[in-house]
Amino acid sequence: MAKKLRSRAKPTTRRAHCTVEVINDWGLHARPAAALAHAVVDFDAEVTIKHGERSAPVESIASLLMLEAFKGSALEVTAAGPDAEEALAAVAKLFTDGFGEDHKVLSGEGTRCGVAVGSAHILYQASDDIPHYSIKRADVQQEQRRLARALTAERKHVKALESSSDPIISEFSHMLLGMLAEEHIAKQPAQHIKASLVNAEWALKICMDEVMEQFDASGNDVLRTHTNDYRQLLKRLVSRLAKAARRRAKVREGTRRIVVGDNIGPTEVIDCYRAGYAGFITSSGSHNSHASILARGLGIPALFGVDYQALQGIAEDTKLIVDSDEAELHLKPDREALQRLEPRARQRQRQQAARLRRKAPTVTRTRDGVRIRLLANIEFEDELAPAYRAGAEGIGLYRTEFLFINRTDSPSEAEQYELYATIVKGSRGRPVTFRTIDIGHDKNFGHVKEFSAMGLRAIRYSLRHPAMFKEQLRALLRAAEHGPIKIMFPMIAHVAELEEANSLLREAASELELPAGKLPPIGTMIEIPGSAYIIKGLAQHADFFAIGTNDLIQYTLAVDRNMAGVGGLVDPCHPGVVGLLARAITAGLAAHREVTMCGELAADPLMACLYCTMGLRELSMSASKISVVREALERHNIRSHKKLAVKLAASSSAAEIRELLQGFA
Ligand code: PEP
Ligand code: MG
Repeated sequence: MAKKLRSRAKPTTRRAHCTVEVINDWGLHARPAAALAHAVVDFDAEVTIKHGERSAPVESIASLLMLEAFKGSALEVTAAGPDAEEALAAVAKLFTDGFGEDHKVLSGEGTRCGVAVGSAHILYQASDDIPHYSIKRADVQQEQRRLARALTAERKHVKALESSSDPIISEFSHMLLGMLAEEHIAKQPAQHIKASLVNAEWALKICMDEVMEQFDASGNDVLRTHTNDYRQLLKRLVSRLAKAARRRAKVREGTRRIVVGDNIGPTEVIDCYRAGYAGFITSSGSHNSHASILARGLGIPALFGVDYQALQGIAEDTKLIVDSDEAELHLKPDREALQRLEPRARQRQRQQAARLRRKAPTVTRTRDGVRIRLLANIEFEDELAPAYRAGAEGIGLYRTEFLFINRTDSPSEAEQYELYATIVKGSRGRPVTFRTIDIGHDKNFGHVKEFSAMGLRAIRYSLRHPAMFKEQLRALLRAAEHGPIKIMFPMIAHVAELEEANSLLREAASELELPAGKLPPIGTMIEIPGSAYIIKGLAQHADFFAIGTNDLIQYTLAVDRNMAGVGGLVDPCHPGVVGLLARAITAGLAAHREVTMCGELAADPLMACLYCTMGLRELSMSASKISVVREALERHNIRSHKKLAVKLAASSSAAEIRELLQGFA
């Protein structure tokens, strides 16, 4: 094998040495052996690899094979010569990369928010609200210390009760101190953290569950009652740990970690975003699931609907690349994939930082001068400033249910008012459309146990709980004092539902002694196919309509938006979908009502051009999509595309619609 000429400046006697482990599944077979030989070809160094008593020069593929090094074997690598260190590093790198052999590519549905590179953080599904995740071996001691601190704090708290003059309290405190000193609380959880590499909360749960199960199975009523004391204590300890975890989450912000979970819903997306994770992958959900919409809105590279079995096989800290543009997950990526995709991950970070600094223009006009208003869909307060920086002219959809999820109680009127007022004040005169809660499907809280896309969801839930609904309506009406708002009802299917909602709104207004003429504009979402057929009737009770394409498509094509594996059946070019949307727009405009679109379709540049040609003048979308939609509209000429839009709406073939749609590009 040719060696490069020795450099005169370098000494000839350099030596370097290291130990490597074979980590790829098939060990040191012919391909890795050839890769090793190739890796040192440009270095001036003699490299030898030793496995037990056998040794082989790195250039000899046959000798390397005879080392019989399999997965898990430890090898000694020695290099001698002027380039010893460089040659050794090249060889070691190949071993640490597993020769790129374990590199696998999985597919899913991507958020199209760029690339994230990082190491896996496994998030198990929460059980009884007890967090469960795996930890690195290097973090065992830190996790054990976290547990010890929580136990000490609890002991201190209980000890303070010991001196109570009330004998019941001091006896209770004795009992608790005794429990806290027992093995399965004082000792076993710390051992479990180390043995199973899990977080402190989960270790506590596993060890305490064991005792509780024994008590329950004993058939002894006194012991059974004692189970409750353990349950309460577990809850207290978990909540102490949670406080510490919240503090830690802030410190971990910006870490290059990718969350892997089998059921990531909207709540977990928010948690991931706030904790600063680089991206996430999950086997659940699809393009139109709320979790996916939220991730896109927050600009998080993520993949939904990834194969469940494959995700189960990912270990904590495995190197991952989430390419959310190509909808690909690279597991243990090889060097080629890293070299290709790492620059894109860095570019995304730079672009995100630049977007945060830049103030986008706010006025959008098509090439032929038609004024279109682009607004943002948001779910919580943190998204408000980025939405306005992205150039939103207001908030076209505020999903109020996000204040209700992730908790067991419903927020009080005061708490709701506070949040809504903050959003209105922060909007400084720009309009905000608040949608009343859409609870009961994938977004749930506390006591809502049964949920379904077609069940007691959204307005149906609100109308069944009028006291709670009125609390929300009063909070909204009070917030309206700070700026222009609109109120919108989700999932209206019947005129009677709209009438009932309006009547509760009037009651709420009269409880606040607001004059009838001071009510904000009221709107109805069109997201059930049947409602697109009763627009004329609805228009008698609504000031505007907002088309929710996510649900409208789900119901029109009977494709569950939260189910992995069926996302491909969501076809916005289906003639039934296009025809229904055209009908809703035409009927709304004919009734002299404003019609807007706030489903994900509004964020698709071609669709935005098509539906603005059909008559929409306002679109609301994830803030991160505003600039690309604006650019498309600014290139678009509405007048010259009118005939094409009519032809497209009348087509009965998805293929033809797709082809005609290119005329809007
Ligand atoms: C929709 O259904 O299109 C919509 C905007 O509402 P959500 O996504 O919150 O169901
Ligand atoms: Mg909806």
